[in-house]
This record gives sequence, structure tokens and C-alpha cells, in this order.
Amino acid sequence: MKNSRRLFLKSACALVVGASGYTVAQGPLGEAQQTTKKYALIHDETKCIGCDACSVACREVNNVPEGVTRLRIERKGPYGEYPEQYFRFTRHSCQHCEDTPCVKVCPTGAAYKDEATGIVSVDAWKCVGCQYCIAACPYQVRFINPVTKAADKCDFCKETRLKEGKLPACVSACPTQALTFGDLQDPDSQVVQVLKHTPNYRTKTELGTRPKLFRIGSQDGEVRL
Ligand code: SF4
Ligand code: SF4
Ligand code: SF4
Repeated sequence: MKNSRRLFLKSACALVVGASGYTVAQGPLGEAQQTTKKYALIHDETKCIGCDACSVACREVNNVPEGVTRLRIERKGPYGEYPEQYFRFTRHSCQHCEDTPCVKVCPTGAAYKDEATGIVSVDAWKCVGCQYCIAACPYQVRFINPVTKAADKCDFCKETRLKEGKLPACVSACPTQALTFGDLQDPDSQVVQVLKHTPNYRTKTELGTRPKLFRIGSQDGEVRL
């Protein structure tokens, strides 16, 4: 009985591979999927105007000290010829990898992936500041917090906002709706819908990290001079 139900769920669950190569659930969810989430973020570079409201909000909400940052918007350009010049903006923050080099090297268990949410976090109490995780992260998004002396990075505002049912601070602060946050396990979530219908990409996928920060690539750039 159990086996036939499992078989039914298996055949009923269609899987869709988006342009970024990520597989997202579509259709009825299996039992294990109903109890766990897999949070992801999309940065739509075509909507980003490089205003930095996201990184300012992140710093304020998460008490990130000056001199370090959990989130940076990188500006490239200008491209093109005057007066048709434009900039491109990309997001630099933790990618919440499915396969986590930072977690693998941590000797104390301070770096961990929360199985209930898929969010990669740091337990500051367990961190001894060895910096192995900083060296192992291919995206170079970790740092030692000068106040806590522990490794630090984006955690999708797990403790400061998600717990209260709020969106990450960056998502709420963005004036152009360039950021979409949600659960990849929920086929009806906005994040899944956007990924299914919009060409997107992720960085350094060749390393097998399976990042959950997706990007909608800018074409002509967004801010014209
Ligand atoms: S981006 Fe770096 S810190 Fe974030 S989960 Fe991946 S390896 Fe770890
Ligand atoms: S700095 Fe902290 S989180 Fe990073 S590997 Fe060392 S103990 Fe683990
Ligand atoms: S707040 Fe939105 S528009 Fe402004 S830099 Fe961040 S992602 Fe881009």
C-alpha cells in the first residue's frame, strides 16, 4: 500500500528544469517535501537600478557593522556610447548553495544548512573564527564579524524577519521589485513561477554548488546616462 502510494506520487510529480538548470517541483508534493522548504532568491538585473536600498536595509535589520557587508550590489559600466550609455548591476551575497563547501570544512558544526528551510547559516556560539569556511566559499561572501568575532553572511534574515513571517529586508526595501523570494518546493510560489517563465542563470554552477540565488540577466542595462 505504502509502495503503491509512493509510486503514485512519483509519477504524479512532474519535474521542470528551468533555464538555469535548476529542477523545481511541479504538481503534488511528496510527504518529505511538505515538511521542508527550500528558500531561494531571484535578482532581476533588468529591474535593478543600483540604488543600494537593499544593502542599507540588510545592514540595519541585521546589525551588520561598518566595514563588512552581507550584501553588495556591484556596478559595472558604463557600457555603450554617449548618450546611449548604461550600467549593469549584479548582487554579491550568499548563494545558499545546496552543496555547501563552507559547511563541509567547518570543524565545529558552526556552519550549517538548516534542513527545514535550506538556508545556510552560522551558529556564532560554535564558531571559533578559524576562517576555513571563508577560504572554502567560492563566492567570497563570508567574513568575520568584528563585533561577534564569528563568521557571518546573509541568512535570508532567518532570525530577524522570516521568524515573524516577514520577507527578507532586502526584498521588502527594493523599490523596483527586482527581488523575488520564496520556496522552490511550492509550485505555486512566485519564485517558482518566475523561474519557470523567465530565462535565468546562476554563477559558478560548474563547481556543483547548486546555488539558490538566481539571476535574470540584464540585456541593455537599466540606468541610462
Ligand atoms: S555562497 Fe559561500 S557561504 Fe553561501 S552557501 Fe555557498 S559556499 Fe556557503
Ligand atoms: S570560521 Fe567559524 S563557521 Fe567558519 S569554519 Fe571556522 S568555526 Fe566554522
Ligand atoms: S534595492 Fe532593488 S533596485 Fe535597489 S540595488 Fe537593491 S535590488 Fe537593485
